[in-house]
This record gives sequence, C-alpha cells and structure tokens, in this order.
Amino acid sequence: MAVIIIAIDALEYNLVEEFDCKNLKQEVYGKTDISEFSQPRTMVLWSSFLTGKNKEKEILSLGDKEMWHYRVNVNETFVSKFKNPKVIDLPGFSYDLEQHDKERILLKKFFEEEDKEKIKEEYNKLALEHHKKIKKEFEKALKENHDLIIAYFSVVDVIGHLNFGNKTLMKILYKEMDEIARKARELGKTVLVISDHGMKAIGKFGDHSDYGFWSLNRKIDLGKPKLTEFKDIILKKLKEDN
Ligand SMILES: [Zn+2]
Repeated sequence: MAVIIIAIDALEYNLVEEFDCKNLKQEVYGKTDISEFSQPRTMVLWSSFLTGKNKEKEILSLGDKEMWHYRVNVNETFVSKFKNPKVIDLPGFSYDLEQHDKERILLKKFFEEEDKEKIKEEYNKLALEHHKKIKKEFEKALKENHDLIIAYFSVVDVIGHLNFGNKTLMKILYKEMDEIARKARELGKTVLVISDHGMKAIGKFGDHSDYGFWSLNRKIDLGKPKLTEFKDIILKKLKEDN
C-alpha cells in the first residue's frame, strides 16, 4: 500500500484553476489553512506539515540564516511510520542546501546589481536544471518499491519569485507539474498534491500568499484543512486506504 506526496512549493490555487491543471486538481481539491502561522515561510511550513506541529517558534528562534539548516526529528514525522519511505529534497528533511543557497545568492544579486536580465536568466537556468534532476529522481522512485514517496519541487516558487508576471512562463511550469502529477496518478496509488503556500503578484514579481493547495485522488472531502492536520490525515485515512 503506498502513498505518493507531490510537494510543490508555492503552487497557487488560483493558477491551478486558471490553467485548468486537471491532474493537479485530481478528484478533490481545495485550499489549506495556514492562518496559525504569522508568515508563510517555506521551512516552517514544510517542517510543520511533516510533524503535525506548529514549528514556527522553534525555527524562527534559530535566526534567518541558520533556519535553512533546520532538520526535523524523523521520529516526530509521519515518515517514520512507513517501512520503506523515499523523501526527495524536502525542506526540513532532505533538502539540497547547496542548490538553494545558490538560488538565494542569485536572487539577492538580482535586486542589488545592474545586469538584471542576465542574472535572471542564470537564476531561471539554475532552477530548471535542479528541477530536471529532481524529476528524474522522482520517476526512478515511482518504479521502486516504496510505501511512501515525498518529492519536493521548488521550481514554481523559485522561478515565480522573479517571473510571476510572465503568464506564459508560469503556465509552462504549471503544465510541467501537471504532467508530473499525471505520471504519479497512473500508478493507482494514493496521490496527495500539497503546497506550503501559494503565490500572489507584487508588480511583475511573486510573493507568498497566505493559503496553500491540496488535492487527492480519493473522494475524501477535507474542506479547508490546516497544514498541521495532514500528519493525521495521512496516517489515519490514506496509509491503509489503497
Ligand atoms: Zn515555499
């Protein structure tokens, strides 16, 4: 019995609707409630998703820089309840820190330096190359015998920050994620698509919006669940329901 979780950073409910991504929407979908958090911070939200506990205070106490090194205690997460899990690149768990450091450095450079188009090009390329690598790892994992796969895709968030006003590019990325969901759905296993937060336009740029996205290929109406409720949902409703 297996659960596949496609964790997509900053997947925005309104764009999933606008671009009509049927495989991301699956059978049931909606927004998540992240109002218990003071701000939609990536590291805080994924760590809270994994543990079912609000990790904001603990993570913020580490400071802005150290925050990215944070790792949850595996025994606190739902991952520990599975026999042969595979977790790919998830913040707070198995994050590729070097890649995400490079992205943050280029993002900073973009706002500080003159040659913005060139820096943006370099930034987008870096994100896309990483995406290809993660996609490959995910496709490999789909063929293996895991009872849980969590694959984290950052490309919609990373590219969205500098390109959210570019609807053509955003649509290409959403269709790419829709295709990834389609491949996972083909296997007949339980598929949960989840985002930490969405994205809203700030001029031509993108900033985090204060709700996330969820969908399931099982007819379980979750309403507007809190991100911290998914640990229970996964263990009590999805783990045995295949
Ligand atoms: Zn995020």
